[in-house]
Amino acid sequence: MGAQDPRNKFSSADFPKQEQPVPGLQKELDPKPDCGETSYEGHGRLKDYKMLVTGGDSSIGRAAAIAYAKEGADVAINYLPAEQEDAEEVKQVIEEAGRKAVLIPGDLRDEQFNYDLVEQAHKQLGGLDNVTLVAGHQQYRDDIRGFDTASFTETFGTNVYPIFWTVQKALDYFEAGATITLTSSVQGYNPSPILHDYAATKAAIISLTKSLSEELGAQGIRVNCVAPGPFWSPLQISGGQPQSKIPEFGQKEVLGRAGQPVELAGVYVHLAAEESSYTTGQVYGVTGGTQID
Ligand code: NAD
Ligand code: MG
Repeated sequence: MGAQDPRNKFSSADFPKQEQPVPGLQKELDPKPDCGETSYEGHGRLKDYKMLVTGGDSSIGRAAAIAYAKEGADVAINYLPAEQEDAEEVKQVIEEAGRKAVLIPGDLRDEQFNYDLVEQAHKQLGGLDNVTLVAGHQQYRDDIRGFDTASFTETFGTNVYPIFWTVQKALDYFEAGATITLTSSVQGYNPSPILHDYAATKAAIISLTKSLSEELGAQGIRVNCVAPGPFWSPLQISGGQPQSKIPEFGQKEVLGRAGQPVELAGVYVHLAAEESSYTTGQVYGVTGGTQID
């Protein structure tokens, strides 16, 4: 098959309104996102790599985890205990690809858990070549008064603090050649007022990509970041967006539709693989057209 029209590669129809409590389950999502379970084809680009993916149970993190496995990597995934069913599905796909899957549930807001997570991933995988941080919390508020302390603490505590803890611990195990892949957002460049705290965390992640890459480059460790536009995921329908915005989610993009997680998978693979050996400190936009600059 030759080149495909990106506008109709996936549906651009309205999404049905739907709501779930945080963290939201992919199992209950309608329609199901395409995370590459059958659509992603590997080409041995990460043969025998050992990777840890947070948020690896669903949507963007699931797509990265599945692609890593199909490219030949063994993969540990982290998620919240409430997401066990989603994680089991990912484990099955990784094992069907002939690779090892390690499930490590736990809450990244807990500092000690971050250290245990990285230690367990290293131990159970028998090494560690990449940490891919995808977990995130997004809760919209109507106006600035809605952003109370508990709420913005949860957002920063999920999206920013674990980067420090997991990276610090990973450095105990990393050898030259290892990589760190962070996950920002178009919100890090074009913040929405209903997402003041979330957008600020995503800007912080861009900053950390640059500063960490400067420090760690001297050790042969590369740090890069993916900035997604609108991707269909449990995050959006568990408080990430007002219900009124769900049906037309993504339709205003240049390509006229929301992204499907598998459309990000190749970028995560690229940033961890040898082929990107001269790339560090960069943010890759996968946005459906919105500029990130
Ligand atoms: P998602 O709901 O599938 O993923 C978020 C994951 O974060 C959850 O699966 C959960 O496992 C994890 N998580 C949340 N709180 C946690 C905690 N306290 N401890 C451990 N894990 C926790 O939704 P997604 O859209 O795939 O989001 C993945 C990442 O992509 C997030 O960082 C999000 O900010 C980013 N992102 C998403 C979009 C989008 O449109 N979907 C756009 C830009 C950026
Ligand atoms: Mg999830």
